[in-house]
Amino acid sequence: PYNGPSADQILEKRKKFLGPSLFYYYQKPLNIVEGKMQYLYDENGRRYLDAFAGIVTVSCGHCHPEVLNAITEQNKLLQHATTIYLHHAIADFAEALASKMPGNLKVVYFVNSGSEANELAMLMARLYSGNLGMISLRNAYHGGSSSTIGLTALNTWKYPIPEGEIHHVINPDPFRGVFGSDATRYAKDVQDHIEYGTSGKVAGFIAETIQGVGGAVELAPGYLKQVYDIVHKAGGVCIADEVQTGFGRTGSHYWGFETQGVIPDIVTMAKGMGNGLPLGAVVTTPEIANVMAQKIQFNTFGGNPVCSAGGLAVLRVIDKEKRQAHCADVGSHLIGRLRSLQDKHDIIGDVRGRGLMVGVELVTDRKEKTPAKAKTAILFENMRELGVLLGKGGLHGNVFRIKPPMCFTKDDADYLVDALDYAMSKL
Ligand code: PMP
Repeated sequence: PYNGPSADQILEKRKKFLGPSLFYYYQKPLNIVEGKMQYLYDENGRRYLDAFAGIVTVSCGHCHPEVLNAITEQNKLLQHATTIYLHHAIADFAEALASKMPGNLKVVYFVNSGSEANELAMLMARLYSGNLGMISLRNAYHGGSSSTIGLTALNTWKYPIPEGEIHHVINPDPFRGVFGSDATRYAKDVQDHIEYGTSGKVAGFIAETIQGVGGAVELAPGYLKQVYDIVHKAGGVCIADEVQTGFGRTGSHYWGFETQGVIPDIVTMAKGMGNGLPLGAVVTTPEIANVMAQKIQFNTFGGNPVCSAGGLAVLRVIDKEKRQAHCADVGSHLIGRLRSLQDKHDIIGDVRGRGLMVGVELVTDRKEKTPAKAKTAILFENMRELGVLLGKGGLHGNVFRIKPPMCFTKDDADYLVDALDYAMSKL
C-alpha cells in the first residue's frame, strides 16, 4: 500500500516549487502511484483503465516486464558515458530502428524528446535546402521549445515570441475543414502560400498524419502525396512527425505516413518509442545527414545506453506481441462500437481515427458543429468516476482522445464504450 504524501500535499508543493504554467487533468487531480500494462492505480489503490497512455507515450504497457528488464540490466552495468566512446546499445538500436524505415531513411540521430527531434529536423531542412521558410498545418502540435513553438498552431501553447518564417496552411480536416475531404483544394493552399507568401522557395513542410493534440484529426486522404510534390518543387524537404502516430499504433501501418502512401525525407519520433523513457529520434537519408557533417551535432543524453536498451526492447516487444495487428483489430472494434454510440447520442459529432489513435468529437448541434465544450468537461470528469482515463484535445477542448497503451483489449474497449454510453445517458 502507498504511504507517501496525499494528492493535496503534492499539489501544494507543485504550486510552490513548480512553474505556474503547469496544468493538470480533473478538478481534483489524480495522484497516480503505480502503473501496470493498461491500468493505473491512485493513492487509494483504485484502478483506472488508462485510455490515454501518459499522452500517447506508454506503447507496450506501463512497466512492461521486458522493457523494464532491459532498462534494469543496463542500469546495473553502465548508465552514461556519451558518444565520445563506443557502446553497442546505441548502434544496435539505430540499426533496429533503421530496419523499420522505408526507402533511404537510414541515418538515425537520437535526442530526448519530440520537441528536440523537431528542432533538429527543422535545422536539417534549413541547412539542406538553403532556405528558411517552414510550412506546417493549422491545428498542429510539434513542440513547446522556442523554435518548435512556431511550428505549433494551436493558441493554447503559443507564447508570443519571434518565430522566424513559418506559414500555417489550411488544415485538411475532413470534419471541420473548409474543403471537406478534398485533398486537392487543401494542397492548392500550400501552393498559394509558396507563391504569394515566400520567395518561391521553402525549407520544408512538417505534418503529423493524424493530429494528436489537435484531436485525432486524420488528414484528408491523398493530401500528403500532393503536398510533398509541391514542397519538393519549391526546394523543400518533407518531414513526418511520428511522435504520436508511429510504432504501429495506427494498426494498418507501422508509420502514420504510410497511410498516405508517401516516404518523407525526414521522420521525427518520440513518446511511444521509449514506453515512458525520455527518448526521441530523427531519421533521415544519408544525403540530408551529410549537411550536418559540416559541424558536430552533439547531444549529451541522446542515445544513452539505458534509453537505447529500453528503446530496443520496445521495438522487439511491439513485434513479438504483434501489437500493430492488435491495434488494427481492437481499434476497428472500438471505432465500430463508438459509431453505434453515435447513432444513439446526438452529442457525438464525429468518430475518427485509425487503430488505437481515436478521436470522438462532441458537438451541441450536429449541423452547426458547435463544440460541446462544457459537456465534454463534465463527461470527462464522469468517465474518471467510472474508472476510465481519457485524453482531451482539439482547439475547443471538445474531443476525447482515446490512445491507450497498445495492450488494450476488446474487453477494455467495451468497458470504455459502455461507460461513455452510461455517462452520456445521464447528462
Ligand atoms: N510532436 C507531436 C505530434 C506531439 O504530440 C508532441 C508532444 N505532445 C511533440 C511533438 C513534442 O514532444 P515533447 O513533449 O516530447 O517535446
